[in-house]
Amino acid sequence: MNKLLEAIRDSERIAIAGHIRPDGDCVGSALGLRQYIAENYPGKEITVFLEEVNPKFRFLSGISEIHSEPDGENYDLMIAVDCSDPERLGKFEPIFRSSGTKAVIDHHISNHGFGDIRIIEPDRSSASEIVCTLLDPEKISREAAEALYMGIVHDTGVFKYSNVTGRTMEIAGKLMEYGVDHSRIIDETFYARTYIQSQVLGRAILESIQLMDGACIFSYIKNKYFDFYGAVYQDLDGIVEQLRITKGVEVAILIVEIEPGVNKVSLRSNTRVDVASIAEKFGGGGHIRAAGCTIDGTVYDVINNLTLYIEAQLEGTKIV
Ligand code: AMP
Ligand code: MN
Ligand code: MN
Repeated sequence: MNKLLEAIRDSERIAIAGHIRPDGDCVGSALGLRQYIAENYPGKEITVFLEEVNPKFRFLSGISEIHSEPDGENYDLMIAVDCSDPERLGKFEPIFRSSGTKAVIDHHISNHGFGDIRIIEPDRSSASEIVCTLLDPEKISREAAEALYMGIVHDTGVFKYSNVTGRTMEIAGKLMEYGVDHSRIIDETFYARTYIQSQVLGRAILESIQLMDGACIFSYIKNKYFDFYGAVYQDLDGIVEQLRITKGVEVAILIVEIEPGVNKVSLRSNTRVDVASIAEKFGGGGHIRAAGCTIDGTVYDVINNLTLYIEAQLEGTKIV
């Protein structure tokens, strides 16, 4: 039995939390793990903490049990999933800090290690993939498998990003054997877009600008667009991916003004640029080909800051 399952066995009150602005992997790994514990460790109190979850994940078992506000402290065990540093737990960080045992399941290259039980594997596609390796396959239900499968689908862009390995495919294949409705999960949670999402995507593509002879592309979502379109941050899923697949692009940047003068930046690269290292310069992190950070200032400030590092990497010069 691994250390995490031992800790689960030995704890009465267990909390699970993921990073701010939770994505599919974050929700999938948290709910998959919650489902497994609920089904196999009767009598435990399990609380899942996540910021507001996209309604498209509603079909997942346990979704209605999610607490979006901090509630209670001093859990015997808290498990942080898909989270590269404690600050990324946002308002749930104090709960993590106060818990008896702190466990971390993560796959970000920018995770430099925290917590008592550290299951940090940057060569894994997703936190959901790691969770699968920790559980007893005999005891996984269809409901747990659905959440974990969904998490893998989202972090791999439906099994196509460079983070996919043969092991990822084997694990996803095994999950299908629990009766997961893979087509529905992929269509309804990954590809489907609301009208609002299509409109914002269209605007972002229309207003995108190429730099560096087309090696870099960026688009900027102004804060006022949220009101104008009636959109929320989660409606921007997939935009940076659409920019990335533009012919000739190595780095795609989506700059989202989440509040006036504060920008959430998403970075994607195709084959050469290590965007995790660039995001880390600005206090963020992520993976080599997908990373993010928050940068204050105008869109010009953001672009000027980032292009310095991107150009340096494209030219093979090192800036420290
Ligand atoms: P995003 O562009 O938000 O989809 O994020 C891409 C990847 O980078 C995800 O794995 C995120 O968890 C990670 N990431 C995004 N923003 C940050 C940040 N501020 N700090 C650390 N990791 C981040
Ligand atoms: Mn994530
Ligand atoms: Mn992830």
